[in-house]
Amino acid sequence: MKDTFRHKGKRQQLAAIVEAKGVKDKKVLAAINKIPRHLFMDSSFEDHAYQDKAFPIAADQTISQPYTVAFQTELLEIKKGDSVLEIGTGSGYQTAVLCELGAKVYSIERQRELYRKTKVFLSKIGYRPKYLSFGDGYKGLDEYAPYDKIIVTAGAPYVPNPLLAQLKIGGRLVIPVGEDVQVMTLFVRKSAKEFEKKEFGDFRFVPLLEDKN
Ligand code: SAH
Repeated sequence: MKDTFRHKGKRQQLAAIVEAKGVKDKKVLAAINKIPRHLFMDSSFEDHAYQDKAFPIAADQTISQPYTVAFQTELLEIKKGDSVLEIGTGSGYQTAVLCELGAKVYSIERQRELYRKTKVFLSKIGYRPKYLSFGDGYKGLDEYAPYDKIIVTAGAPYVPNPLLAQLKIGGRLVIPVGEDVQVMTLFVRKSAKEFEKKEFGDFRFVPLLEDKN
């Protein structure tokens, strides 16, 4: 598990690409520049780690495209100390970005293999999310609710009600909604019953699945 100057150089280029695509938040760009993405992937993909692309990880899942990770994170407007619920831990890359921004991260994964592997890996490279859960993201994580921010990193056919319910007033939910193609959607909770909704264009994710393996 090495992080060389060559990796660092490629990472700087990746952050520049993500910035050129429109991400402005300096802290998000700094996180992309800092996190050794190649370590989150199978070593056979190492040469591709600093391309702005999604790649396969275990259990038929993917590590999201860096631009998508940055775009979603920017929409969350993370402040240090925010409690953030992530649905779809996957490789843990998005989790690491949230940790870099000073968030208290709670993350749920429904594939046992990924849950186990990522839990060990994140602590090995020094990231300390508050809690990693093996479970169903459609239900959210009531124990630690309400959250300042919630991010869904798989394509949701609809917006699960528990996620809206577990958001603080003033909180933000970023979720890609749709079947084959997803519309990046932001919900801001204005009051107990009122949510403001904004849409940010098309993205493609692996699906948010209902039944646990
Ligand atoms: N954030 C991840 C993205 C992984 S892809 C990363 O940066 O690598 C989406 C992940 O969501 C997959 O790992 C998939 O297993 C998981 N997932 C799908 N349906 C889920 C559900 N209902 N609850 C929790 N996780 C789910």
